[in-house]
Amino acid sequence: MRWILLVLLCSACRGKPPVPILNYHSVGAQADGYTVTEAQFAQQLDWLQSAGIETLPLHDALNPHARAVVLTFDDGKEDALTRVLPALRRRGMRAAFFIPTALVGQPGYLTWDGVRALSAAGMEIGSHSVDHARLADLTDEKVREELIESKRALEAQLHAPVDLLAYPYNSVRRRVRDAAEKAGYRIAVSGVAHGGSDALDLLRISVSGLTTLEQFQRAVSH
Ligand SMILES: [Zn+2]
Repeated sequence: MRWILLVLLCSACRGKPPVPILNYHSVGAQADGYTVTEAQFAQQLDWLQSAGIETLPLHDALNPHARAVVLTFDDGKEDALTRVLPALRRRGMRAAFFIPTALVGQPGYLTWDGVRALSAAGMEIGSHSVDHARLADLTDEKVREELIESKRALEAQLHAPVDLLAYPYNSVRRRVRDAAEKAGYRIAVSGVAHGGSDALDLLRISVSGLTTLEQFQRAVSH
């Protein structure tokens, strides 16, 4: 009993970022645990706009801000360019996109031209490792490689520094977090299982096709 209480207390003591950070993957035709439909996405963005909630860069997520949210997209799917970007631009909004660099150019994923187009449109680009690896399962050496190689590839393609990271599967351990810091990342995001208010392990709230508008509104007003 006492042990359960300790576990509960510990997840609460990790805290949360000053600005809520949302975690999307894909916007597409069919709603599922991974994909939000274009209609759902439009409804969510329109609600943010009508509520006067600003979409901040992830780089600003550590500064308290009363009416703001950070939108993030993992996995670098091609709909980032065809569906997400047009919806954001129409409303003057922004998001951060996390790219597994070895998947760039694969069927269904962004090309490097696509990644550069997102960046040129004012979107933030971050690493999602090289191979979409579950970093907690890898040796320290392999973790280092995934973190450094993906950062280097993005910086070479974008001709700009990259210091944002999303842990694949939102899976992170203390040694992985420390390796990310050592590799030169300034901000790294995970999910509800690990994340908190630590700049290198920030909590994100998942948004999928199964998320209702009410749940979305609650997540943003945390
Ligand atoms: Zn992912």
